[in-house]
Amino acid sequence: MAKAKTHTFQAETQKVLNILTHSLYTNREIFLRELLSNASDALEKLRFLQSRGEAIRDSGLPLEIRISVRKEEGIVQIADTGLGMTGQELIDNLGTIAKSGSEEFMKAAGGSDAGKEAAPESEAAAGESEGEAAGAQAAGSSTADIIGRFGIGFYSVFMVADLVEVISVPVTEGAPAHIWRSEGSGGFSVSVLEGEDAASCRRGTIIRATMKEDAKEFLEKSRLQSVIRLHSNFLPFPVFLEDERINTTPALWREPKFSVTQERYTDFYQYLTYDDSPPLDVIHLSVDAPVQFNALMFIPASAQDYAGMQRDAWGLDLYARRVLIERGNKELAPQYLAFLKGVVDTEDLPLNISRETLQENVLVRKISQTIVKQALHHLEKLAASDSGKYETFWNLHGKLFKFAFSDYARHDRVAPLLRFSSSASDAGGLISLDTYLERCKPGQKEIWHLAAPSLEAARINPHMERFRRKGIEVLYLLDPVDELALEAIGSYREHRFKSVEQADGKALEGFADVCEAAESAAAMNDDEKAALETFLEKIREILGNRIKEVRLSDRLADSVAVLVSPDGVSSSMEKLMRVMQHKEEIPLKILEMNPDHPFMRALLRMYIHTPDNPLLAELLLGMFDNVQLLDGYLAEPYGMADRNLKFMSKALGWYADLARA
Ligand code: ADP
Ligand code: MG
Repeated sequence: MAKAKTHTFQAETQKVLNILTHSLYTNREIFLRELLSNASDALEKLRFLQSRGEAIRDSGLPLEIRISVRKEEGIVQIADTGLGMTGQELIDNLGTIAKSGSEEFMKAAGGSDAGKEAAPESEAAAGESEGEAAGAQAAGSSTADIIGRFGIGFYSVFMVADLVEVISVPVTEGAPAHIWRSEGSGGFSVSVLEGEDAASCRRGTIIRATMKEDAKEFLEKSRLQSVIRLHSNFLPFPVFLEDERINTTPALWREPKFSVTQERYTDFYQYLTYDDSPPLDVIHLSVDAPVQFNALMFIPASAQDYAGMQRDAWGLDLYARRVLIERGNKELAPQYLAFLKGVVDTEDLPLNISRETLQENVLVRKISQTIVKQALHHLEKLAASDSGKYETFWNLHGKLFKFAFSDYARHDRVAPLLRFSSSASDAGGLISLDTYLERCKPGQKEIWHLAAPSLEAARINPHMERFRRKGIEVLYLLDPVDELALEAIGSYREHRFKSVEQADGKALEGFADVCEAAESAAAMNDDEKAALETFLEKIREILGNRIKEVRLSDRLADSVAVLVSPDGVSSSMEKLMRVMQHKEEIPLKILEMNPDHPFMRALLRMYIHTPDNPLLAELLLGMFDNVQLLDGYLAEPYGMADRNLKFMSKALGWYADLARA
């Protein structure tokens, strides 16, 4: 072998290496990702030369990466048939460190120039031999996980290897092969490869890494295999591990849309999510401006519970040139699109970008904006072309998607995509705001809504009476978020959202009745009129601090009474606010009573007859229980049960007395 020429590492490189070689890191496995992506890059470059018709050494060689293990010697070897490096390139490329990753890495590891004055240990890290251990110590304690987050290219191999040899045969015919070797500290040597070794070498690069004593796990095939599958599964060239091909799933997102069959989408989706069923829908994007990226996203055909266990189980997988950067990245799409599962791949991000940097990355932000725009566009198209499928989407993911109300800049796009139950489709069908406006009355300025815990509750809500009589449609807000959403959006096409609870006596005056009004009760006689004031006083006394006020209602026909919020906040909004403020007590409301209802009249007559009849209080409280229930609360469930049983046995007693008589 020819004389090996020794070189020292550039100062920056040395610092990084000192930290790498002497510390324990949790994410050491990423060395493989780095080496494989370098190999893939080299193959890509070769393919480029090939495509330009340039002369290439060993042109018949397949473009591939082969990983092998020599267990007895403790060696992991990675060989590619890429474009290789000349002796000078070996010196240049593997003696210096790329700026991007290293600077940040050094900062985080506490070995930066800025950190020198502050921490004496970091100064030691920059020093030569004796300083190394101290520097490593500093890094070891404070930086347990940084490597995994940064990825610092080729040098990461020194986390696991104490000797690395790089044998490279450049692409140019006749150019000599070289061997680069280093133990990771001090320097490296480069020499021309001669004799048999050289003769047997073919184009490309072989990285031969002798594993450290504590990194023997990487001599196990199963370990290597899982690392490759995790980080490097979608490299565009075959990766073999001991002659078995590992990356068999193609990077489908890179393929042109028209060439991908539904079946392949489904396969890929199931591979990605472990979901057994096919996805509901596929969004496949290939974008060139403002940022180049490919995205393959799926809308699952089942719902996820993002409030509970899976709170953090969302985000898109971010790849840079088919190498995984981060699984479940949360910057690429807002949370209201968390139902999207899939992959985003860009040419423009460096591999060694850290997660912190990703969060502020302009490129990622631009990608995210395009993804949101395209996702909304996709949903718009779906809603227009296949309303049934859109409704399925809504039923599965609407609960999450409606949180898009918080995206103030996009209300115009989001509002038409919302769906609601409504009084006009009692079967429970969903309608859009556009449908509501198509059907609303001429001259109607508001989009009326009613928040209720269920369809049944909405239908029997006393506030609905007047609207039903006028034939005015009301949106049923069955999810507490609905009300927040409408509140945030404010209005739609110049129609304000308004709760039916806020409709005062005159609100519907201008609209004709479409159903016959309920048979109006006989007018009160003089005795009744005279007693009304003190009767109301009596009711106030009985209900006491259960309510804020009692008054007569002008909004009711068939119902006996209704609860109204004093400040115009709707019941469900109030409930939501209570939940958020952890309030336990039930809000004080105004009880509006219908003076024409038979119950009221009978009670009034009982009051006139025997003002102190204890049954009066019992009946009133029983009625109040029911009104509260309809409003969505029940303050005294045991009291109610008790009262009900008493009424029943009383009624039964009367019946028995009658029967005996
Ligand atoms: P980066 O990949 O970000 O440039 P690395 O530290 O991973 O940084 O690699 C440094 C350089 O070494 C690469 O840019 C490339 O020029 C060269 N290199 C590394 N591995 C190979 C390889 N297998 N074949 C050819 N060149 C390589
Ligand atoms: Mg690299």
